[in-house]
Amino acid sequence: MASTTSSLDIRHSTCPHDCPSACALDIEVIDQAKIGRVRGSKQQSYTAGVICAKVARYAERIHHPDRLLYPLKRSGPRGSGQYARISWDEALDEIAMRFDQAERDHGAESVWPYYYAGTMGLVMRDGINRLANVKKYSRFFGTICSTIARAGFAAGTGKIAGVDPREMAKSDLVVIWGTNAVATQVNVMTHATRARKERGARIVVIDVYDNETMKQADIKILLRPGTDGALACGVMHVLFRDGYADRDYLARYTDCPDELEAHLASRTPQWASAICGVPVDEIESFARAIGQTKRSFFRLGHGFTRSRNGAAQMHAALCIPAVTGAWQYEGGGAFFNNGAIWRLDKTLIEGLDSIDPATRRLDQSKIGRILTGDPVALRDGPPVKAMLIQNTNPVTVAPEQALVRRGFARDDLFVAVHEQFMTETAQLADIVLPATMFMEHDDLYYGGGHQHLSVGAKLIEPPGECRSNHQVIQGLAARLNAKHRAFELTARAIIDATLQNSGRGGVDALQAELWRDLQPDFRAAHYLDGFAHPDGKFHFKADWSRVALSHAGLDGPWQQMPALPDHWAVIEQVDDAHPFRLATSPARSFLNTSFTETPSSRSREGRPTVLMHPADAAKLDVAEGDAVTLGNQRGETTLNAKLFDGVRQGVLVAESIHPNHAHAGGSGINVLTGADPVAPHGGAAFHDNKVWARKAASPNPSPVAIKRS
Ligand code: SF4
Repeated sequence: MASTTSSLDIRHSTCPHDCPSACALDIEVIDQAKIGRVRGSKQQSYTAGVICAKVARYAERIHHPDRLLYPLKRSGPRGSGQYARISWDEALDEIAMRFDQAERDHGAESVWPYYYAGTMGLVMRDGINRLANVKKYSRFFGTICSTIARAGFAAGTGKIAGVDPREMAKSDLVVIWGTNAVATQVNVMTHATRARKERGARIVVIDVYDNETMKQADIKILLRPGTDGALACGVMHVLFRDGYADRDYLARYTDCPDELEAHLASRTPQWASAICGVPVDEIESFARAIGQTKRSFFRLGHGFTRSRNGAAQMHAALCIPAVTGAWQYEGGGAFFNNGAIWRLDKTLIEGLDSIDPATRRLDQSKIGRILTGDPVALRDGPPVKAMLIQNTNPVTVAPEQALVRRGFARDDLFVAVHEQFMTETAQLADIVLPATMFMEHDDLYYGGGHQHLSVGAKLIEPPGECRSNHQVIQGLAARLNAKHRAFELTARAIIDATLQNSGRGGVDALQAELWRDLQPDFRAAHYLDGFAHPDGKFHFKADWSRVALSHAGLDGPWQQMPALPDHWAVIEQVDDAHPFRLATSPARSFLNTSFTETPSSRSREGRPTVLMHPADAAKLDVAEGDAVTLGNQRGETTLNAKLFDGVRQGVLVAESIHPNHAHAGGSGINVLTGADPVAPHGGAAFHDNKVWARKAASPNPSPVAIKRS
């Protein structure tokens, strides 16, 4: 749909990037191949006219001179950067031939289609699963983003849905916990600051460093990484002790309030403070603020999902509004994600009717172990011999980077990468295919952080010979004799049928509406007719073996997880050899590595930096700007020190993810992060690392020298 403002042709779409906001966009279309400014739609009530700077300047990205334009075949040693242009037919024939060869020699499960959230469009992101399901290739278990936190939320409420996030604007106390929203989901701030402006609400920010969101807070709570559960218990202790618990609500809506109260008797603010580092008086006053404010809104974020105890921590924080009964009030309750509200039939998109449950599912986070032959990670099945990778850059973003790189260096592994830029993963591929960006194809979107369903139609022609993910999957299916009705349909026809099959009308109607608000009504969103567990109660006592998450098996030490909210000391503890805890929090301008090619993002983020408390720096004889090497049992990487008293002593924060080649020695930050299984369903604990630090022997490359090879 288009509208015209003076001479500008304004078209509408949805931001596809890996961000809960899925912003509604107004895009200036200059001609059939060119866009101008991108703005947030003022009409869509969650976006409310605000988008992040990196997408506002999207023309820099979509018209970037380094975009991949033609299929390429490796012509030199792996990693040499030597490629020759080939035709699409040659490229797809080669991939199909190598997949068939792997299947003949090692079985269908030796082929592993691998993808993630470089686009959140349902057809372009998830269509690769249809190929895997029809061909009985190894299935993909996506754990890198939110699996850990989702388990914690569902353990309490029974499903992944919460209060309308727009209700933050009607809250009197907005608690932003575990998300640097200014950097990663700017719309949270739109609604939270509206509450402050219009109602005098206070904003509380809880995080491991004084980030850009915390700078806007009325109440700042700076805690040690992986200790949120302790803080939550200390707060609930005060709520029970001082008469702020809503006894009527607890009796009606929760499973075991008396047991919880008894359990919390020993979880005093003093106990919590010793673990999380937050002074006792701050815990007491935060608890009082919650207890005295009926409309307390807990916006819980992805920070919880980056810790080995993240599920238990998310559950502990989520218990607080159940103790006070804040769920009853407009502007009160909690929200993490709206995964349960969409109810879309994705059979066509993913080929769900072709799944063989006996086919193994390989955990995305364990790619390093999988490619280096770890039998546990391979689930005792055949080695992975061939891959197609779409929408992700595991050589830079996956944990255990040393293993990942060793795996991709294998001579006996065939890798095809379908990408927009020559990422560090594409540089190790045998075949590289050029991919469209979201304005160059049709797709269907919803936002994890809100409630709008929308179609993003193709607005301009792609450059060169770029093809969409769906076109590539179609081309491979034809060559691999993979049969499914959706391989014969266009992306738009799949969207239309998916909507129809889900009782949501068709694609034309949705596109004409621009978006559709699917927010459940007030009673449902606030669980006023009961929570989603069979007993209708909020569960203080988590049953981790039965958390409702589709198709996720149990993993990690789930039997050791605390049932009642607690501090679960399973995080990597510092020791004499590793005296620092490291969090790899998201950099404002990169969105993982999606924007590391964009000039203004690179210029804003500069060199890889580690935030270090001045007292820690003094002990290491490190001055501002010095190169510092961090290391642990998994590897070493080098960053530049930024002295910063907005972290607790002993805590380091590296805003990420810079390209590996931006670090001296070429190992990126994820050389330090682990992929050991996180309970209860797997995942990667990116903020949960013990490390040592020392002044580096050699400096990092200058920002000018950080150029793509
Ligand atoms: S805030 Fe998130 S969804 Fe919105 S434009 Fe930026 S990256 Fe896209």
